[in-house]
Amino acid sequence: MPVFPLLHRAHDYEFLIKRWKALTKREGLTLRPFAQSGEHPVYFLDSRAGEPRTTNRERCLYISAGVHGDEAAPPWGLLEWAEENAGLLKAHRFLIFPCLNPNGLINNTRVDHRGVDINRTFHDLKEPVIAAWRALVEPHRASLALCLHEDYDGQGIYVYELNQKPEVVGHRILEDCAKIIPLDLRTKIDTSTADRGLINRKRLPKDMPGLPEAIVLYQMGVPISLTFESPSEFSLLERIAVQKQFIVSSLHHALDL
Ligand SMILES: [Zn+2]
Repeated sequence: MPVFPLLHRAHDYEFLIKRWKALTKREGLTLRPFAQSGEHPVYFLDSRAGEPRTTNRERCLYISAGVHGDEAAPPWGLLEWAEENAGLLKAHRFLIFPCLNPNGLINNTRVDHRGVDINRTFHDLKEPVIAAWRALVEPHRASLALCLHEDYDGQGIYVYELNQKPEVVGHRILEDCAKIIPLDLRTKIDTSTADRGLINRKRLPKDMPGLPEAIVLYQMGVPISLTFESPSEFSLLERIAVQKQFIVSSLHHALDL
């Protein structure tokens, strides 16, 4: 008898959305398409849809995954987190984008169906997906934004933190996550200086051709914007587990949830 390895439908966008739809239906929530990317609808969940927009006093959490399609763990980590935290999902307003680049996920590419890295287009309202994204996000005052990514050069986990306050939360979050996948201890990651897995961004990197999601969210007034990176050459199941832990620990350390 052949022994089959544990199969994961990591790049099956339809299956991902099917599970999101099952979850939202079960919980009385609505996952809805908000834009079209090539042949595929792109989906969005507002866990308090139909209620007035969020004011400064309420908690509103932004989480997205699947901006880069060759980074497969984040969409599944986000889905599993939501499946296991339906109560929390309904207790606060969550703005969730389960997979912003469907073609990328399906084809295992960083770029979308046109060959564009959408994480350099978040400033550009001529981009139809971005314009529709912005119209959904901008009316709310999110307290925290989590952008979930992976790095094929990554030697462990790390995080980019944009924080209006001088203190950082990233180290405490990373400490929890490092129980699953160790920290990337490089002192220079890409072109940024890193300290035990934390890149504390105080200004925009030079020569950036267009703006990423996390920076645009920060510019829109989100006080803490965290971009998490897991190493995409590590085991998929551990990467999914660490992405899930990142969400749990971010909500806990940044917002006491
Ligand atoms: Zn990425």
